[in-house]
Amino acid sequence: MYDPKSLKAHEFIDHQEVLDTLAYAQKNAQDPGLVRSILDKAGERRGLTHREALVLLDCRLDGLNRELYDLARQIKRDFYGQRIVMFAPLYLSNYCVNGCLYCPYHQKNKHIARRRLSADDIVREVTALQDIGHKRLAIESGEHPVYSPLEYILEAIETIYSIKHKNGAIRRVNVNIAATTTDDYRRLKEAGIGTYILFQETYHRESYLRLHPTGPKHDYAWHTEAMDRAMEGGIDDVGLGVLFGLEGHRYELASILMHGEHLEAVHGVGPHTISVPRLREADDINPDEFGHGLSDDVFAKIVAITRVAVPYTGLIVSTRESARSRARVLDLGVSQISGGSRTSVGGYYEPETENTTQFEVSDNRSLDEVIYWLMELGHIPSFCTACYREGRTGDRFMALCKSGKIQNCCHPNALMTLKEYLMDYASPKTATLGDNLIASEINSVPNPKVRNLVARHLAAISQGQRDFRL
Ligand code: SAM
Repeated sequence: MYDPKSLKAHEFIDHQEVLDTLAYAQKNAQDPGLVRSILDKAGERRGLTHREALVLLDCRLDGLNRELYDLARQIKRDFYGQRIVMFAPLYLSNYCVNGCLYCPYHQKNKHIARRRLSADDIVREVTALQDIGHKRLAIESGEHPVYSPLEYILEAIETIYSIKHKNGAIRRVNVNIAATTTDDYRRLKEAGIGTYILFQETYHRESYLRLHPTGPKHDYAWHTEAMDRAMEGGIDDVGLGVLFGLEGHRYELASILMHGEHLEAVHGVGPHTISVPRLREADDINPDEFGHGLSDDVFAKIVAITRVAVPYTGLIVSTRESARSRARVLDLGVSQISGGSRTSVGGYYEPETENTTQFEVSDNRSLDEVIYWLMELGHIPSFCTACYREGRTGDRFMALCKSGKIQNCCHPNALMTLKEYLMDYASPKTATLGDNLIASEINSVPNPKVRNLVARHLAAISQGQRDFRL
């Protein structure tokens, strides 16, 4: 039954194939010869199959596990350098008709306040986000046919792109809304969205049905096949994710990689990003009750394996993770993080007076603190949105990534957008650290022509010009 080319969820995420994979990994994961050959293959940057990845997950051979972490760090450096792309979530509405057992926005929850941002509210929120320094947003919404139909989302996107406050601008809007029709995806594409993100929550069908007892999200196939409809609708950057903590992490890792293999087999391009959210405490939600919590060690191993299994896919970690956990996984492969996030509806503009929060964040620091911290750890925070604006999406982005030209393109873009941030939004302490970083990093742009161009652009940014990109 397993068929990565099939368009049917139960065939490309074939339950028996997942079970066979888990059994195969359990049986073979302590075979040093096999693990060695898998690490060698990963070292060639060709990625890994879900079976190979699961062998690494189950492997308890210390020396080989250390090699895995070293390789993940190396692949991260080779493809992404030290760059970390920054984004923030923007919650538009928490009205929801679904019954997700892990999410406080579930329809039956009567003790949170329900709110939907008006166009004026969006202007205020986005202005506040611009004033912190954000350029890239992920919009979030509960699913509701009356309060957040697609028209509302499209209008919100238009409003967001139209707001220009001081030197601020949101240059890329990613969208994390419920699974919808091919036609709706086409309209989202036309509205100029970046990535369409949809978390699978769990790939385990039986658990999925239990965890989503009511509402349109109950339909496992509709949800799981959403990315195919999105791609059919012309969106070629899609972002996968599972909510770790709902089901067994072995099942989830095998499945999310199978999902990526399916997208590659059918559409010729794998997922643009993979997110690794972990279940958090929320209003009436206690993560312990779901019985599948992960240790930080296992979480880090999942990140490292994902990095080597899909080297060209961006890896996203949110403020669900603590600063400590984030520091660890940044080294192992994460390429994108949120900072200064609010998970409530309207939380950037006004302090929370009523409870509209989706979940407790673990990393409460301001964006400026996160930027400073990243640079202290040796990373380069980037506010770059160039690829998407230059039409380098889907396979064109992958081609850039695979050609290794990123160092002459993404690296300069990171430095230039960081410089904008330092000029417009950073504290003096962050600005000083950042300017020193840029001064030394500009020397590592390999092409001398590009290096000179970037130096000129940086000087122009100091003089007040904005929005350079390669
Ligand atoms: N309503 C859309 C959907 O159904 O996909 C948008 C998603 S919601 C605003 C964003 C994500 O938050 C969900 O996909 C889920 O994975 C995550 N989430 C929900 N409850 C959570 C919790 N208690 N802790 C951490 N993440 C949670």
